[in-house]
Amino acid sequence: MNFRVSLIIFSFLIVSAAQAQHTHSRIIDFPDVPGYLTLSTDLHQHTVFSDGSVWPDIRVQEAVRDSIDVISMTDHIEYLPHRADIPPVDFNRSDELAIRYAKPYDLMVIRGAEITRGYPPGHTNALFIEDVNKLNVRDSMVAFREARNQGAFLFWNHPDWFRDSKDAVATMQPLHEELIRNDLLHGIEVVNDLTYSDEALQIALDHDLTIMGTSDIHGLVDWQYHVHEGGHRPITLVFVEERTEQAVKEALFDKRTVVYYKDMLIGREAHLAPLLQACISVSQDGYIGTSTVLTVTLHNESNALLILANQSAYTFRMDGDIVILPPKGKKELEVKVLDDLEEIELSFEVMNAVTAPGKHPSVSLLISTTE
Ligand code: ZN
Repeated sequence: MNFRVSLIIFSFLIVSAAQAQHTHSRIIDFPDVPGYLTLSTDLHQHTVFSDGSVWPDIRVQEAVRDSIDVISMTDHIEYLPHRADIPPVDFNRSDELAIRYAKPYDLMVIRGAEITRGYPPGHTNALFIEDVNKLNVRDSMVAFREARNQGAFLFWNHPDWFRDSKDAVATMQPLHEELIRNDLLHGIEVVNDLTYSDEALQIALDHDLTIMGTSDIHGLVDWQYHVHEGGHRPITLVFVEERTEQAVKEALFDKRTVVYYKDMLIGREAHLAPLLQACISVSQDGYIGTSTVLTVTLHNESNALLILANQSAYTFRMDGDIVILPPKGKKELEVKVLDDLEEIELSFEVMNAVTAPGKHPSVSLLISTTE
């Protein structure tokens, strides 16, 4: 090997090492909460078996890369643009293939389908279906009842879709209320793909529906969410008693969810508050010299950026009242305690977490200064 070739290879290795250092992890990871395991789910995805662009093995590989725990291939039953090339022989096929491809991994695949009807009701996902073929019927109410007879959890997809609402505002129709009354609708997408709906969140709270967020991916997750630039797909965190399909089903019916979308966390106070409390831990390094300024470090155990607004009785020596806690990172604060206290409490409103439109949950951190 001549000197010039070695130099080129050497330079290449240095550049590769530098690039590797700048590659951030794409793994989506949130801590467990008291009493429950936290599973990440993406329960609305498409393949070539309806109007998606990929075979189910790609969906499995994407989920493995993102470290997602539970997925579902919810191909449309009534909308099959690839019908000439992939005739609809068996509507269970995309999930069956995904189940087979997922076998070597710690990945659960739930059988689902998208009941695709005019508005209202619009599009509805049915999960935990035994046989999707039986939902391929003319009357939409018959399809809903068949899904429910099979034990389905049903949720309303993209209620703010332009095709159904020109102003992008999700609104309940009498048919949706009828579905809810008849135990045929249990959840609603507050997040779908690249959209978030405050109105859908309010509908979920008003009508006691499970808060859902999904990718509804048709192409590639990497391209749609710019994963190489640090982006991520929307997911629903589900708080389960154990890592089984039955436990996921119980958690969804029990509305134990939080949606993670861009930098936002969206969920009911009862589930979002414990999650945030589990995400943020605190350590302290004592008072600085003989001063009454305490050095405190906040640690973020999650992949979500957290924007904290100080609500404590104290102010900080080096920061204002807004504190940014980076994903899987930490933030040091110098707290002006003003006294030599053995214990202090810091509390923050988490500005990018939402429990209702315009409402943010708080976390409170007790810190012993003597340990
Ligand atoms: Zn869909």
